[in-house]
Amino acid sequence: MSTSPSDPVTAVAALYFDGRSARAHIVTLGVTDGVLHVEGDDVSRSEPLGALRVSEPMGDAARLISFADGAHLEVRDHAALAALLAATGHRDAAVVRWAFEPRMVVIMLSALLLSVWLIMQYGLPWAARITAPLVPDSAMTVLSERTLEWLDQALTRPTALPAARQQALREALSSVASIDGQPIVHTLLFRSGGQLGANAFALPDGTLIVTDELVALAGADAPVLAVLTHELGHVQQRHGVRMLLQGSATALFMAWYLGDISSLLAGAPAALVQAGYSRDMEREADDFAVKLLRARGQSAGLLAGMLEKLAAAHGEGAASRSGPMGWLSSHPDTAERITRLRSTEFAAD
Ligand SMILES: [Zn+2]
Repeated sequence: MSTSPSDPVTAVAALYFDGRSARAHIVTLGVTDGVLHVEGDDVSRSEPLGALRVSEPMGDAARLISFADGAHLEVRDHAALAALLAATGHRDAAVVRWAFEPRMVVIMLSALLLSVWLIMQYGLPWAARITAPLVPDSAMTVLSERTLEWLDQALTRPTALPAARQQALREALSSVASIDGQPIVHTLLFRSGGQLGANAFALPDGTLIVTDELVALAGADAPVLAVLTHELGHVQQRHGVRMLLQGSATALFMAWYLGDISSLLAGAPAALVQAGYSRDMEREADDFAVKLLRARGQSAGLLAGMLEKLAAAHGEGAASRSGPMGWLSSHPDTAERITRLRSTEFAAD
């Protein structure tokens, strides 16, 4: 595109360097018919605009117009050059134009925020899923020991369950805890729940903690086992570590890149007990539980029934949901899970 010959030609002051000597020539620039004319004391040359390279504006720095033979022009009068270029139809690169349009700045910022949100929403869980299997067993043990210490100091008390009942439940769980013929490594501990009430937790190393209150609420061994198989699902799929990793991009990076889990350890105990697994993790753990239950000829309804009892015991109102310790705060979406466990999806049993 070019100006028509009748357009007034704006003269722009510039310095011309011939590319051979350091001497600056004072010149004026003009454009006619798509050709740049450089006129000065001892310089006179004309070049088609298409053969020239024009630098992007960078703050107050002079813009450079480069010739193919090594000569170049320096232009400090940005406004005059912009007017001259605009008249010729020259367009700065898209990103430069955007940077000066407020609306585009808003759009670009929104795009940036959207990217950050997408990374938080999908990128971190994905990265955590990839990284969790790489966390070494020794780290899982440390994480679990710390969490148990914290639980015992802050929340739980020694169990009052008779030793015989404990032993019966341990044996029953061992007989259930295998997948595809392989036993699932686990340890079952009993505690009096205190303010935790009827509850069960899984630690990353396979330690399961069940409260006396939950055993009492269940009334029989089978529903307790249903809950524990669900907790085994969290262990088996490394949900605890995944939750910790995706909760902290820093921890994720340190664990993945440096094999350093110290930043993971700091917030681990409280997070493992209180933070709550994602809806997808709960589904995975439920599916795992149903698989184990069915292998023993038991139904998904056993877990659904126990979830109903737990929800009732902890209250289903908003108040209990906002409380830090309830079953519902560490197991959100309970109603949805009960419906799913009772749905046709699991009706085959
Ligand atoms: Zn769960």
